Amino acid sequence: TKIVALGVVTALVAYSWRDTFAPESLQGAKVLVTGASTGIGEQMAYHYARFGAQIVITARRENVLREVVERCLELGAQSAIYIAADMSNTSDPERVVRFAVEELGGLDYLVLNHIGPSPFTMWNGDVEHTRWLMQVNFLSYLQMTSAAMPHLEKSAGSIVVVSSLLGKMCSPFVAPYSATKFSLNGFFGTMQHELAMQRKNVSLTISILGLIDTQSALEKIRGYTDMKAYPASEAALHIIKAGATRQRESFYPLYTYFACLIRDWFPFFRDLVIQNSYNFEP
Ligand code: NDP
Repeated sequence: TKIVALGVVTALVAYSWRDTFAPESLQGAKVLVTGASTGIGEQMAYHYARFGAQIVITARRENVLREVVERCLELGAQSAIYIAADMSNTSDPERVVRFAVEELGGLDYLVLNHIGPSPFTMWNGDVEHTRWLMQVNFLSYLQMTSAAMPHLEKSAGSIVVVSSLLGKMCSPFVAPYSATKFSLNGFFGTMQHELAMQRKNVSLTISILGLIDTQSALEKIRGYTDMKAYPASEAALHIIKAGATRQRESFYPLYTYFACLIRDWFPFFRDLVIQNSYNFEP
């Protein structure tokens, strides 16, 4: 009986993870990607471009955004434009959504990916940095969602929130960052219930990522751990597919799924493993 049950569970998991992604569904799709000047956001812009989407990208650095837009057009984007904005400025999130909706004539995908820089260090009591980071990594996501929602309801569109294993499990050196990611999971997880209960045809995907080989991530962990980092381009494609297939929650790489499943089984050993995976001398 146990073997049959295990077989059924495995089959169900495999069925729910089958690749139902149809690349043509993104042809001409109206997409806004945040944090797209570097890292995973930049790679998402290139994938959307290859699928022939109409893209608006945003981040702070105009000169870098200009280059990403040029590359998107070379790769086959139906259109690509940028808007420079700073998400720590409380009026910029709405301004960016307004710009994207006007330029694209609507919106199909709101891809929330940006993060502000935050030191990889034990918390030093700096509350102001956490307050600032909450605006950039969390509150701006809410502002953009609120501004985009009427347009996404019209298009039966999608919100994609890029989150982290550090929004599911606590780890040292990243208290402010982790707080913003736990906030995202809590807020948007609640919103998933509410969208379903109101029968709104807007999908909301939360992507949980493990360590990805972006320059900013690798620079932070250097000297602290030699954990394997996974490719940004693959992570970006994973997120896009999860959004396009309207998944609730997606995990990349796969170990993050199992980490979340067994997170609370043996807390003592979990914490021992986490603490011993970093080099640190008090
Ligand atoms: P990067 O640091 O490479 O990129 C961050 C992006 O956000 C850049 O485009 C940056 O551009 C932009 N940005 C920074 N500050 C602001 C601001 N104040 N206003 C507007 N835009 C800003 O991040 P990653 O690609 O590594 O991460 C992308 C996402 O993936 C994040 O949500 C992150 O939490 C998540 N993730 C990443 C992991 C990893 O290991 N890399 C692991 C787990 C999750 P600019 O400087 O031009 O403004």
